[in-house]
Amino acid sequence: MTEVELEKENTAIANEYRNLLKISYQFLTDEDKKLIRLAFNTAVDAHKDQRRKSGEAYIFHPIAVAKIVAAEIGLDATSIAAALLHDVVEDTDFTLNDMERLFGETVARIVDGLTKISKLQNEADVSLQAENFRKMLLTLHDDVRVIIIKIADRLHNMQTMASMPSHKQVKIASETLYIYAPLAHRMGLYNIKTELEDLSLKYTEPEVYNSILEKTLESKEEQNDYIKTFNDSIRESLDNQNIDFQIKGRPKSIFSIRKKMLKQNVSFEEVYDKFAVRIIYKCDQEQEKFIAWKIYSIVTDHYRPNPVRLRDWISSPKSTGYEALHITVMGPKGRWVEVQIRSERMNEIAEKGYAAHYKYKQGAKDEGGLDEWLVKLQEALENNEANAVDFIEQFKLNLYSKEIFVFTPKGDLKSLPKGATSLDFAFSIHSQVGYRTRGTRVNGKLVPLSHVLKSGDQVEVITSENTKPTANWLEYVTTARAKSKIKSSLNDEKKKIAADGKELLSRKLKQLKITLNEKSVNELVSFFELKTSLDLFYRAGLGNIDNKRLKDFAAERSNAFISFFKKRTRKQSTHEEVNKDEITHKYDLLVFGKEEEKLNYKLSSCCNPIPGDQVFGFVTVSEGIKVHKTNCPNSVSLQANYAYRIIKAKWIDSSQQEYFTDLIITGIDQLGLVNNLTMVISNNMHVNIKKISFETDDGVFTGHITVSVQNKNTIDKLINNIKKINGIDRVKRV
Ligand code: MN
Repeated sequence: MTEVELEKENTAIANEYRNLLKISYQFLTDEDKKLIRLAFNTAVDAHKDQRRKSGEAYIFHPIAVAKIVAAEIGLDATSIAAALLHDVVEDTDFTLNDMERLFGETVARIVDGLTKISKLQNEADVSLQAENFRKMLLTLHDDVRVIIIKIADRLHNMQTMASMPSHKQVKIASETLYIYAPLAHRMGLYNIKTELEDLSLKYTEPEVYNSILEKTLESKEEQNDYIKTFNDSIRESLDNQNIDFQIKGRPKSIFSIRKKMLKQNVSFEEVYDKFAVRIIYKCDQEQEKFIAWKIYSIVTDHYRPNPVRLRDWISSPKSTGYEALHITVMGPKGRWVEVQIRSERMNEIAEKGYAAHYKYKQGAKDEGGLDEWLVKLQEALENNEANAVDFIEQFKLNLYSKEIFVFTPKGDLKSLPKGATSLDFAFSIHSQVGYRTRGTRVNGKLVPLSHVLKSGDQVEVITSENTKPTANWLEYVTTARAKSKIKSSLNDEKKKIAADGKELLSRKLKQLKITLNEKSVNELVSFFELKTSLDLFYRAGLGNIDNKRLKDFAAERSNAFISFFKKRTRKQSTHEEVNKDEITHKYDLLVFGKEEEKLNYKLSSCCNPIPGDQVFGFVTVSEGIKVHKTNCPNSVSLQANYAYRIIKAKWIDSSQQEYFTDLIITGIDQLGLVNNLTMVISNNMHVNIKKISFETDDGVFTGHITVSVQNKNTIDKLINNIKKINGIDRVKRV
């Protein structure tokens, strides 16, 4: 930067500072100004070498936060000073002791609280799930000003987020929607809440945001006309009653319009209450309620009110301190419009929250007023901890009924579609994490991979190098991303097994004096009634191609003449069948219940289910299990009257099926035995370990292992390989 530029910047900083004092909502004494001046000088000095991502001097940020605190929220000098200093301890060489020495205990305590929050957000080993976050916000600090300044800090960060990388923008915006906007709402900081929401939408869904913004600007003129018509129609009646008032249009925020569009599934044009009419009147505080109802009476003389949409927040103010009378009337042009009737005092409270409330109650210069508010707010937060939690949950659920928010162990927020499972979460982190998912922990507890996540859950993925996706995984996930990743991995795996299978098959054929080439492969594919050569090699790799059947094939083939015609006919018919009924071909085994057991069954004659159909089993009195299609005409009455006799059933591809087998292994305990054992199991032959335990007793080793395999032959091979390990004495199947 040149000297001229620096000088310009210094002037700008000085201007900002003067402006800060000017716009303070609270009256500032000379002592207050001294405190703020010292805080300003300290912050300027502390941040002098820092710049923000946008390139501007860092000090502009704390000043902007202090301005929000001073003017928009209307806090006291202590808070303004703390806002100026909020990043000093976190980012510079100044310590908490320096803060206390220079500014006293209160400011130091607030800065300490703010430092703790930003540290919590950055520390990797602190679990920052929603629950903890809320608790932290509600109980960590004995001064509620910490949270308020934090909200102001977040607002300014959101306002100046343009120069950040987009993944950070989305993360910060999601967090803002989840935590900060609801908190601002709870504190009665209506304007700030609205701005936070709109800014969040701008970064999470830029296209949606821009399109609504554009349309809002387009409809501006029409809105002004409407309000003018409304104004003209009731002005005279109000004037006759000597009411001092003004009428304004209050546009609905972009975020609220979006929310309504989603909730009611309507287009922008169909949202009828895109703005409200606000009547703000001047009067003595004793007359407020009376005049509000007087205005109500005049408005409803002109326009028919909707009786179910009357809200009297004057007689019983909202917990946030909000007071007003809301009515909805059939306004000009036959459109329902909300009319908000507020005194000037009520309007100020609506915009500033409790700070204004107490100003009116106690007088502007009475410090006790603000303190009383802070104490009350603190109490409200502490006493209603459960409600605050519910509040955040509900708020968010209403907003994003199709989305949930979960946390990583580091406290990063992730959004997933509703219904997503812990395995979906793993794939959302990275496909390489997904592929290696061995288990998942939700809120510290181990859960199945199919566990459906809820908002606020903290999810941890346990990975292992040896884990690979299995076909079952497809049932554990709901997101398209996870599904396609698992499918492609299964295909890779299939190809790997097929490559082994091809070699194996080639060797076996050699013994039968047959060369493996395109011709013989095609013949084999049709002989085994398969679809592709990949299927053939895959089955060979799994050990599903029977030696005896291969010999049959060789015998048939050696009789060239006959087999030539046979092949021709078979090939043709098989080909047609496959095209006609691909599903039938793939699903070849019917299994029952959760455990996918193989049971005896009969296909019912009323609906004649075929492989691949959606089916269920019905336990009959004399004929065992009968299988019906889910859409069988008899299904409804069977399900309704004999629910207890219904048994889950489905068609599966037996080549994809997993078998669970328990093995008991005994031997002589020696160094490295367990290691060798697990190596043999998990490195060989596509076997997954499901459960494993070992014990030794006086040098005798016993291991219990549950494995899953896709084929029974694999188990025999596995047992043989385990027996070869040095020290292993016996392997038994249980
Ligand atoms: Mn900051």
